[in-house]
Amino acid sequence: MLRITLIACGVSFLLVLTAGCRRGQEAAHSSAPAPRDANILLITLDTTRADHLSCYSAPAPAGSRRYKGAKTPHLDSLSALGVMFSHATAQAPLTLPSHASIMTGEYPTLHRLRGMEGFVLDKSRPTLASITQANGFATGAFVGSRVLARQFGLANGFLSYDDNMGNQTEEDNLPGVFAERRAALVTDRALDWLKENRRKKFFLWAHYFDPHAPYDPPEPFKHTYAGDPYSGEIAYTDEQVGRLLAGLEQMGLASRTLVAVFGDHGESLGEHGEMTHGVFLYDSTLHVPFIVAGPGVPPGKVIHDQVRSIDVMPTLLAFLNLAPGQEVQGDNLWPLIQKGTRPRSIYSYSETLYPRIYMGWSELLAMRTGAWKLIVAPHPELYNLERDPDENQNLISKFPADAAELRKKISEVVGEQGRRQKIVAGPIDGKTLRDLESLGYVGGGARPIQLGTAAPDPKDRLDALKILGRVEDLLSSKDYARAARLMEQGLRLDPGNPRSHIYLATAYEQMGQYQRAIQVFQHALEVNVETDRMFSRLGIDYLHLNQMDKAVDAMARANRINPGDLNNLRNLGMAYVQLGRAGDAEKAFRAITAQNDRYAAAYNGLGLVAIQRGDMETARREFERAIEVNPAEVKSLLDLGILYRQMGNGEKALHYLELFTSKVPRGQFTDQLPAVREAIQELRGAARSNPATAGVYSLRLW
Ligand SMILES: [Zn+2]
Repeated sequence: MLRITLIACGVSFLLVLTAGCRRGQEAAHSSAPAPRDANILLITLDTTRADHLSCYSAPAPAGSRRYKGAKTPHLDSLSALGVMFSHATAQAPLTLPSHASIMTGEYPTLHRLRGMEGFVLDKSRPTLASITQANGFATGAFVGSRVLARQFGLANGFLSYDDNMGNQTEEDNLPGVFAERRAALVTDRALDWLKENRRKKFFLWAHYFDPHAPYDPPEPFKHTYAGDPYSGEIAYTDEQVGRLLAGLEQMGLASRTLVAVFGDHGESLGEHGEMTHGVFLYDSTLHVPFIVAGPGVPPGKVIHDQVRSIDVMPTLLAFLNLAPGQEVQGDNLWPLIQKGTRPRSIYSYSETLYPRIYMGWSELLAMRTGAWKLIVAPHPELYNLERDPDENQNLISKFPADAAELRKKISEVVGEQGRRQKIVAGPIDGKTLRDLESLGYVGGGARPIQLGTAAPDPKDRLDALKILGRVEDLLSSKDYARAARLMEQGLRLDPGNPRSHIYLATAYEQMGQYQRAIQVFQHALEVNVETDRMFSRLGIDYLHLNQMDKAVDAMARANRINPGDLNNLRNLGMAYVQLGRAGDAEKAFRAITAQNDRYAAAYNGLGLVAIQRGDMETARREFERAIEVNPAEVKSLLDLGILYRQMGNGEKALHYLELFTSKVPRGQFTDQLPAVREAIQELRGAARSNPATAGVYSLRLW
């Protein structure tokens, strides 16, 4: 049996292969190589280009412009211990749809999680987690970003799903920036879970979001990769992967744990006119790392056949001798891993609906083999990947038969009607839908997304895309006035793009010009550009101007289009609280907990509703629940402190108010902090002089 020994060596370590003696014997059982009590560790690397890992750079000629990248000693060691796939392809260049394909073994057209905001994976679909859990495995997930929060459906089957981003705000203040947590925190939590579950058989998933923009690696990587912070994030992530693997080894689990590392998509870094990912289907964002190591995996092998994210699930289940669901579309790769048997399918389908949903441009569909890629777009593209891996020469007019064959393969995946399908985002899980209906939150206003209709080809909008990229940079460097000026130009170029309107409004919001932001959105609506995000932002702008009724109208409209935007529901609930509409507020907060029962701010809102009704006992319970699901929910610490103070319990009031001041992030609650500090002083004084009267004060904090 393969055995992995770890030798500590300064800050780094070496994984050394000590024996592989039963390899021949195992090869005879290619579908069931797992030892008894075998485990699975799945690591997904967000936004990680394969060619930026040092193990993938080796085949590139010296000085090749294709490789810049990071030093990744831990992933290099893992690939030396196992199999490295040189041509692994993602099914979508977006975090959520791509992870859904990894977990279900299905193309996005089948699992239906085809975009980000508002799309939810149906709970009835079998996943790696649901199948392993049903077979007695402990299942745990530790995700690095709000993008994979539990309400989007990937939590199904996980006994433990840790999507708590700590005290970072749930709100995405700038476009394209999501609440995330560092890799070190993901590793810490995953190791804690491993310690608790080490005696059970387990499926553990760790998701590292760090390489996603904005690129901001911690030291020493910040310094080492000062000129290339994206690679710095990858190098840092590699260090944390190493720490997780070291923990596995130290707990004596490495010899019976299969480790699989997969990227969810790459990053364009300026190639084809795209800076990040999501708009195009070139290999810059579809070519991802894929490494498998553990029992039964031949060491040091590089496999060049094309493999796909949908192959991960059936392959990992086959290792455990478990069957995937009936509808699985991926292949079990064990025969390929062990005997070099060619995969059943040489085709890989990918899609991005991102340009259609968020930018008013056409969606793109692609079919890729090892040799060719067809991209279906208003102006279709065909590339010979062997001769032209950078996809610069469109051969569509020279090879019509090859293009037609690949187009036929796309039709087989998306179905006859699929190209012109209407899709609707929203919770598709029956129970959640019924819960929302009973609260009056039916989401009946969802606008279907019509595919296959005339829209600009994303590659014909490169000038607009470039401006959006520059505006993102200006927004993140807080140069809002220039961002606004440039975005005004961009809007003239591409007036039908919802994103341009949102960026322009964001610049005005950041300068405190809420009335101008409102005008931007009103103008967009006049020209029929309309998304849920525009209404939710409009609502926030009205809140800033204290126009509460208009705020509520806009946020309720956003909710009808996309009931899955929990931040919008929270804002709506808080607006109802301010208006004294306790019943409506309660429904809004319950519509959140119906979708995500660990969303702390919703319990905090329910506490405030209870206070409006004079029910202090319920309020206390709700605030405590908020703190229980997220100990860093500082708003609830504050509210609980105030509540105890008003209930006359000075001791507990002091406890929670002190906890609040110790945990509140810098720059938040600045208006309330002086009053809180004053209250703490009074409570301390009262506790010393006369504990019985502590907490009886005239000052109210809310
Ligand atoms: Zn991603």
